[in-house]
Amino acid sequence: MQHELFTDDPYRRSCQATVIDRDHDSIALDATVCYPTGGGQPGDTGRLTLPDGQVLTILDTRRDRETGRIRHRLSGSTEDLPAPGSTVEIAIDWQRRHRHMRMHTALHLLSAVVKAGVTGGNLGADSGRLDFDTGGAGLDPTEIEQRLAERIEADLPVRTRLIAGEQLRAQPELIKTLSVSPPLDAPMIRLIEIVGADLQPCGGTHVARTGEIGRLRVAKIESKGSRNRRVVLAFVDD
Ligand SMILES: [Zn+2]
Repeated sequence: MQHELFTDDPYRRSCQATVIDRDHDSIALDATVCYPTGGGQPGDTGRLTLPDGQVLTILDTRRDRETGRIRHRLSGSTEDLPAPGSTVEIAIDWQRRHRHMRMHTALHLLSAVVKAGVTGGNLGADSGRLDFDTGGAGLDPTEIEQRLAERIEADLPVRTRLIAGEQLRAQPELIKTLSVSPPLDAPMIRLIEIVGADLQPCGGTHVARTGEIGRLRVAKIESKGSRNRRVVLAFVDD
């Protein structure tokens, strides 16, 4: 059992945890603040402090597909890795993660202002993109920027709630990101609501209010085949 602390509190930057297993370059912990790569959002990086004060770098965080466990890949050699049972302190690279949270929330807004099905997406600390099936129609970057700015300036609250998988199956229109559809057989699925703007299932990390996203620009709109358009967002001056 691992406590995934970023789910209930994406603002938590550090925690103490016990090592539950290690392999040649990574460890699993009984609790973590590190988000694992998924849903288009990169895994967290950070620092891990050993009981003797030695500090290792968390190079990447991923979920093992077979075990479902979150693994933290560490700097140093295999013998530096803490043994199962050791107590360690971990801290995320907060500046990077907070930019992921801002861009991730921005992509939810983007999916709401462009009226077309989402066919893919990805984000990093500087930019993020969504692909839309517009049926070949073009998109106006100025209009998109304006609509995003209105929703950011309105400082809308971002809320989390759980919905039964069964109920979501009855409302498939909530699933926008066709390429990363949530597991509909799960008993409970997490919905992210940007009040008055968007509602969709998501397991990523988001900011608490849209005002925190800051200023955005449409960096690029590209054609991806005859039907698809890719919209790339970037932060303005920070
Ligand atoms: Zn999300």
